[in-house]
Amino acid sequence: MTDLCLDADVLVLGGGPAGAWAAIEAAAGGASVVLADKGYCGTSGAAASGGNNLWYLPEDAGVREAAMAERETAGGGLTDRGWMARVQDETYRQVNRLAGWGYRFPRDELGVERRSTLQGPEYMRRMRRRVQRSGVRVLDHHPALELLTDAGGLVAGAAGPRRQDGWGRWEVRAGATVLATGGCAFLSGAFGLNVDTGDGHLMAAELGAELSGMEFSSVYGMSPAYGNHTKGLMMRYARYHDEDGVPIPVESLGAARVRLARLVAAGRPVYARLDRAPPELRQAMRDSQPNYFLPLDKAGIDPFTTSYPVRFAYEGTVRGTGGLRITDAGCATSVPGLYAAGDVATRELITGAASGGGSFNGAWAISSGTWAGRAAAAFARRRRPVRHGLRANGQAGLRPDRGGGGLSGADVVRAVHEEILPLERNLFRTADGLRRSLDTLDALWKEAVGHLAGSDGRSALRAREAAALVAHGRWMYRAGLVREETRGMHLRDDRPDRDPRLRRRILVGGLDEVWTAFDPVAPVGAARDERRPA
Ligand SMILES: Cc1cc2nc3c(=O)[nH]c(=O)nc-3n(C[C@H](O)[C@H](O)[C@H](O)COP(=O)(O)OP(=O)(O)OC[C@H]3O[C@@H](n4cnc5c(N)ncnc54)[C@H](O)[C@@H]3O)c2cc1C
Repeated sequence: MTDLCLDADVLVLGGGPAGAWAAIEAAAGGASVVLADKGYCGTSGAAASGGNNLWYLPEDAGVREAAMAERETAGGGLTDRGWMARVQDETYRQVNRLAGWGYRFPRDELGVERRSTLQGPEYMRRMRRRVQRSGVRVLDHHPALELLTDAGGLVAGAAGPRRQDGWGRWEVRAGATVLATGGCAFLSGAFGLNVDTGDGHLMAAELGAELSGMEFSSVYGMSPAYGNHTKGLMMRYARYHDEDGVPIPVESLGAARVRLARLVAAGRPVYARLDRAPPELRQAMRDSQPNYFLPLDKAGIDPFTTSYPVRFAYEGTVRGTGGLRITDAGCATSVPGLYAAGDVATRELITGAASGGGSFNGAWAISSGTWAGRAAAAFARRRRPVRHGLRANGQAGLRPDRGGGGLSGADVVRAVHEEILPLERNLFRTADGLRRSLDTLDALWKEAVGHLAGSDGRSALRAREAAALVAHGRWMYRAGLVREETRGMHLRDDRPDRDPRLRRRILVGGLDEVWTAFDPVAPVGAARDERRPA
């Protein structure tokens, strides 16, 4: 039974920064817009829960050129200059608009505003307000679980359950749909990320969408062992030691993560102390990231003077760079009528093989949201209203083909966690390890297609999320097998060197049968490669 049915020109799925910018831009283009979020737009998702540095650069050709060159190197040669330049321009323009909407940027000692950083809670509070003032109808706590298509196979909206209205069904019929459902953090518990379960990727893949860069999905953030906050800022001021108090020297934050993760993977506890933080900065650190300190305070630990054990919390594709492949400047996916913005889309064009957090992903969310919203409004204008004969396309976890029962979302999540969360499987990859995990995940997928379903609204949502996690694990590890080298965050312990012939972006897709291919569009300057992906 559908107990909420709406029509709109543009439907935006997800209300993080990417979805908010998309909704605002689509409405500015004259479209009627509905935005549906799994949580509460303004507090849900990765950006809302912390600070965000942004790739906000002055209009200085030299500065921008240098930033692109730096990214090209750090990103393992997989970026694209045209896209990087577009993101720099658009982010600059839109962040300046944000200032006009009343966002108060901090000022430096000369009184100049620092617009390259945003406080997540305040940023997203303002964005929600702007979305609403743009006339967008916001559906909070309305996760989308499946896409609708018309008789011609064009995407025509989405549907899902109403979490706070008796778990009835909602459906929005729309001329164009923007996916902005974030990345996939596998329900790892990392701070603010449990809403990001990759549902959007799964819905798109059910209609044949291609993904790219899924091997770049192995970011783990460091948090206190009894916390889950992974913002890197704190660790810039950390010193580390082992259980005997022997110092562990680290040269940089990136190097620290790998070095310390190896110890933790080998079962050796690692401790941190933030005693390199200048005393005058300590209160500011507390003020900017209070959630980092909360569990430490509760345990009676002053992290500036006393060491505490750390752990590695998995962040999946949220601070990775892979996602749905973008096929044009308006962020169209390979499925007609479907656009993608933010972390649900690949960010390889901007940040390549290296972590997308730390300013690039946030800038991409703003820029891609803007372009996707604009293009979706234009697409909807060219299309007749869609009302009748729509097909709901959700399969695994929603409509098991051999009847539900016997397999719950919780069972599947547990099984996926065993293959995806351990550092020794996902961060330190080998062909043998990837193949072993794929055997398990492939079998799990078959089971999920046949039997995974929930018995009530809540468990049905979890079942669908669980299906998305299995799909992600299979895409990530298939792509990881093809990338027989170490590049950026993708570490292959059995292939520690970079292979120049693999300076190619790797596409992946499919559900029952997962396929891989090299992206026919090679990065500029890449060697032609005759090898075929596995
Ligand atoms: C610890 C950490 C630090 C970071 N630091 C930085 C930084 O300093 N600079 C930077 O640029 N980037 C940073 N990032 C990355 C940045 O937060 C993300 O790139 C950004 O939030 C992406 O925006 P988004 O809107 O795509 O996704 P999100 O902000 O994750 O929002 C996704 C939204 O989609 C909703 N959703 C999910 N599934 C569904 C569904 N099925 N139906 C409807 N809605 C759904 C969620 O509820 C959520 O509101 C960091 C990330 C992490 C984890």
